Amino acid sequence: MPPYTIPLVNPVLDDDDLKNAICAIKSGRISNKGEFIDEFEHEFSKYVGKKYGIATCTGTSALHLALTILGIGKGDKVIVPSLTFIATANAVRYTGAEPVFADSSQEYWCVEPRDIENKISDKVKAIIVVHLYGHPCDMDAILDVANRYNIHVIEDCAQAHGAEYKGQKTGSFGILSCYSFFGNKIITTGQGGMCLTNNEELAKNIRILRDHGMSPIKKYWHEVIGFNYGITNIQAAIGVSQLKKLNELITVKRKVASLYNSLIKEVPEITMPPEKLWAKNIYWLYCTLINNGSVERIARYMTEHGIENRPFFYPVHKLPPYNTNLKLPVCEALSKKGLCLPSSALLTEEKIEYIVDNLKHALNSST
Ligand SMILES: *Cc1c(COP(=O)(O)O)cnc(C)c1O
Repeated sequence: MPPYTIPLVNPVLDDDDLKNAICAIKSGRISNKGEFIDEFEHEFSKYVGKKYGIATCTGTSALHLALTILGIGKGDKVIVPSLTFIATANAVRYTGAEPVFADSSQEYWCVEPRDIENKISDKVKAIIVVHLYGHPCDMDAILDVANRYNIHVIEDCAQAHGAEYKGQKTGSFGILSCYSFFGNKIITTGQGGMCLTNNEELAKNIRILRDHGMSPIKKYWHEVIGFNYGITNIQAAIGVSQLKKLNELITVKRKVASLYNSLIKEVPEITMPPEKLWAKNIYWLYCTLINNGSVERIARYMTEHGIENRPFFYPVHKLPPYNTNLKLPVCEALSKKGLCLPSSALLTEEKIEYIVDNLKHALNSST
């Protein structure tokens, strides 16, 4: 056992991030205004291929703003995948609307477009799709359902910065897309988020809503009840330098995944993470399915051997705040079998071999 724990993920921070943070502090503009915020919004939206970016304090607040600006509230329903981080569903609840949970694809684990269609009703106003663990959703199929039923598509890209569907970046498909820059995401500002859109009117109004509902032309005149959801200039400064590393980080993450795959493909008990032909997975987390054997036991073995790991999300429809009787067989089965392995861009080949060796030992030791 190594004298340290191999972390699940860690932020990749360097002197450029430090330099930018210092620059923001020295400028005296440390709160919700400053040049780095403008630059971060501009550069990140350009990277994804959307016209406007509105930076926020978290990914969750970005989702809340996106739903609110589309007029979603009490009496409305929003379809969300059940296999996601709870924030996707909570943002719907914040508006007073109800999340309707959809099942996952057996093949690539994101929301299953056919089940979206099953869950449509008159009350459904939008769907939030989640590019889970770095793999994109099937956007053609999703946009097809959304267009036929005239509902909005919001992309939750918190786990998929730079992932691609048919060569086009995730986050460029929906009317709005939301990002998180939390410390465990592929690039980070500590805490932070962003809404992207091509719609000028929506962009303008999201900005107002983010900044206490204050009129952009008449200071301290508030037309609506807004939120205090801005990012700080210090965080945005780090975001600017982080973004410059994103493509390189994606390359390294994909290399880590292919090293894992080459070692794991011989192990019949384990399913490797998917990458459909139309997908560019960024492998935010390298996730496997343990097809026979107790995930709990294997996870414990790995932890005892200094390897941090994480089971899949619990299906949100089974968590106490939502606790529905709904049966979503695919996501329930995936959730029981899924195990995420260390996925840091800083992993060495040696460590990956150590991790896979331990995984094989864990599978073979039957207690
Ligand atoms: C991390 C995450 C969020 C929330 O982002 P925060 O910045 O932590 O608020 C939302 N959705 C998904 C899918 C996430 O992984």
